[in-house]
Amino acid sequence: MFNKFVALTLTILCVAGVSRAQLPCSADKHYQRLLQKYPQLADYEDQFEAQIQKRIGARTTSVPVDTNTYDIPLVVHVIHDYGTENISDDILYDAASYWADIYMLRNADTVDVIPPFLPYIGNPKIRLHLATKDPNGHPTKGIDRVQSYLTMNADDEAKYNQWDPSKYVNIWFINTFGAAETGAAAYALLPSSAAYEPYYDGVISLASYANYAKVIPHELGHVLNLQHPWGNTNEPAVACGDDHVDDTPPTMGHNPVGCSPAALYDVTCAIGYTKTYTSSDGTLDSVVNYPDTVNAQNIMDYTYCQRMFTKGQAVRMRTALTGPTAGRNNLYTPANLAATGALAPMPDLPPIADFILNKASGGGSIYDNRSYFLTFNNLASFNFMNASWNDTISSVAWTFSNGATTPTSAATGVVSNKFSVPGWVSVSLTANSNAGSNTLTNNHAVYAADTASIGGNGYFQNFTAAADIANWPMFNYYNNQFKWDFYTGAGLGDNTCIRYRSFDTSQRITGIAIGDHDDFFTPAFNLAGLSGNLFVDFFTSGAYTTAGIGPYDPNVTDSLVLEASTSGGARWTKIASIYGSDLANNGDYGVEFAPTNAGQWVARSVSIPAAYRTNNTFFRFQYWPGNEGNNLYLDKFSISSDPAGVKELLTSDNSFNIYPNPATNGCFLVFKTGISGIVNYSIKDLTGKVVYQEQKSFAPNTTEQQSIPRSLTPAAGMYFVTVTVEGNSMTQKMVIY
Ligand SMILES: [Zn+2]
Repeated sequence: MFNKFVALTLTILCVAGVSRAQLPCSADKHYQRLLQKYPQLADYEDQFEAQIQKRIGARTTSVPVDTNTYDIPLVVHVIHDYGTENISDDILYDAASYWADIYMLRNADTVDVIPPFLPYIGNPKIRLHLATKDPNGHPTKGIDRVQSYLTMNADDEAKYNQWDPSKYVNIWFINTFGAAETGAAAYALLPSSAAYEPYYDGVISLASYANYAKVIPHELGHVLNLQHPWGNTNEPAVACGDDHVDDTPPTMGHNPVGCSPAALYDVTCAIGYTKTYTSSDGTLDSVVNYPDTVNAQNIMDYTYCQRMFTKGQAVRMRTALTGPTAGRNNLYTPANLAATGALAPMPDLPPIADFILNKASGGGSIYDNRSYFLTFNNLASFNFMNASWNDTISSVAWTFSNGATTPTSAATGVVSNKFSVPGWVSVSLTANSNAGSNTLTNNHAVYAADTASIGGNGYFQNFTAAADIANWPMFNYYNNQFKWDFYTGAGLGDNTCIRYRSFDTSQRITGIAIGDHDDFFTPAFNLAGLSGNLFVDFFTSGAYTTAGIGPYDPNVTDSLVLEASTSGGARWTKIASIYGSDLANNGDYGVEFAPTNAGQWVARSVSIPAAYRTNNTFFRFQYWPGNEGNNLYLDKFSISSDPAGVKELLTSDNSFNIYPNPATNGCFLVFKTGISGIVNYSIKDLTGKVVYQEQKSFAPNTTEQQSIPRSLTPAAGMYFVTVTVEGNSMTQKMVIY
């Protein structure tokens, strides 16, 4: 597999020359956005530049030449969801070795540098080392691998596991960039930007570019304060620009073109380029006639034909490194090199055991990309796959609970299993290497659901105790704070319910909720033979929050999806979704929301299509947090021929009810219709004035509900609602706030 990957990459390079569609870098776009956010950054940048120029000094004055070689610790974070972005340790070690070559001028391809620039090839003299100690002082091989949905549509928010950027240069790899970075392969923050947002300091790149061309060395150039040769204020190939480095002639820069003659011998902007230098006493020192050809082979250009840094760039990088901005001058201190183990040889560490779930096999088409929930006697099988890393794995040993068809295995690939005992399945994987072994045990790896139906029409679940949901598995797929749980601090009519904790404590800096999703499954219901009205009924209470993110955006928020399965979890079909302000029915809360009264709950009734009325129907609630999420509460789940609210509120000695009450967004009247089916109802205000009345015909002897929209009672206050059935009248108070 590894060899195949390399061969493919080389083929692309050789045949196509420039094959990648992505621009190398979006650091400029990022810088411009930051400049808008922090206008004072421009002044800071100017001051910083002045300091740099002062420290670099005029070329021929007596600034001592810094001959030190600097050592810098690196850490590579792979943010992955077990897709192609989960690039192997070996690829990363090869890549890191190549990046290190560039920064010590060991890259052999400088032989391609065109003659005008041969005298200007610079050696940064910076040794890059993967760290051998993590921030807690534990041994590491310099790679940090975490599963997260943030690998998709990534931006700065994916950098949630940064190691102190004054101690390590952080490099993140992700699957795809989000809209703000569309078209880019990577970007990095300049030191001045990093000083403003240290939690974003580092390089972030598409995983597919880890070892492509000089994308990462280019980004590390930005980390060390190099600009693009055309400056950082425009796109390439637009206008002549300069990067504050003398021996990189002014240029418009290039979009990816490869080593085309037009780029290699491009003279646009560079004709007649000279620099005049003065001595420290102010007299003329020299006039240097730099090449009249632009340096299209510069690592900071976009040609994908990069071969070199210049001497001036090397000085500029070293100057940034030895300055305090963004803590760069801490990176190479002896104390930091000791703390990060940067100079120690790479340790041989035991593997880190890990496995993933694949899509189920067998049983017809499977909808979920990964299958965590199937009935214990399903036609389809769960598929477990080894994903251990951190060392060359010599062997693995699996054990599975619950009467697995394959209770133990040594397969390094996929292990298929069915389970004869329902419930949570415990999976244990031991990975071995020459350096030792590591075991991962997950007692909630997958759920083998029982097919014994727990009820049909009339089933009611009030979520009173945690034991009530023993057969209602909840999955927190990304093992984070955004998840379903049994909640004991609020409820409809009591203090218990189910909560999805969507409130985002990340302050929208890193580790945001958007992109996550989690499931909450029901047991099996027997709905066979049921005709007529049949609903999944439940109540929800939700809110959103704009705290820290400005105005409410109704297009970007949380959603709750209800799905049904008649294939024991192999295939799911959406039967309802609730989202936006409908789901967030209580509006904007700056803090974590929890309902405090019945009026904050909304009844939900989802009609169960005939196709899902089988003797083994499962439902699942799937929650997709948005970036304005607040908590959602769910209570009083029932399967009923009546819409939600009816069963819970109507008792035999009280054939008329109002819910919610008090109410702010309208409410419902629920009543039994009597022999004739004719029902009169009226609403009076406190003065006795009739604000609404109506007579309607319903089916005889049924329970019905009528919506009372808020528009009928626009004024807050108390009302009296009277319902008359067969000459018998009942009146109740209704409070609108
Ligand atoms: Zn760049």
